Amino acid sequence: MVDPTPFLDALARAGLRLTAPRRALAQLIADQAGHFSAADLVAESQARSLGIGRATIFRTLDALSGLGVVERIDLPSGEHAYVGCAPTHHHHVVCSRCGRTAQIDDAGLRTVVREVAQRTGYRVDEHKLELFGLCPACLPAAPFPLQRPA
Ligand SMILES: [Zn+2]
Ligand SMILES: [Zn+2]
Ligand SMILES: [Zn+2]
Repeated sequence: MVDPTPFLDALARAGLRLTAPRRALAQLIADQAGHFSAADLVAESQARSLGIGRATIFRTLDALSGLGVVERIDLPSGEHAYVGCAPTHHHHVVCSRCGRTAQIDDAGLRTVVREVAQRTGYRVDEHKLELFGLCPACLPAAPFPLQRPA
């Protein structure tokens, strides 16, 4: 079990009562190893008989993403998913196979943004960046891209 405290704190800060279903949902979100959808949470809550209503799941997810501790990411497939994260500016590197994510900061990216601003004459106010690939756990299982039949 992963510590659900950041999600509970965020809900409390937003003035939401920490009801039993919301506590169970915070734990469910904390336990997600990779990205997840609202439908995943509904299905898992039903499978584990957690007694969290659909409406609670949708509304609480909305509240958590408004608070920045859950973030919606666009997958290369065109689908959307959520990830739990720290409420500071960051980016995600996402595993295309298992959905695990890691957070990265802007180190190195600032230079790129500055160069783009210089080259285009734009003042860049915001950026969004998500990186997709294979995580260290999935990498050994991946077929070697340049492998040829012997
Ligand atoms: Zn994030
Ligand atoms: Zn992976
Ligand atoms: Zn950034």
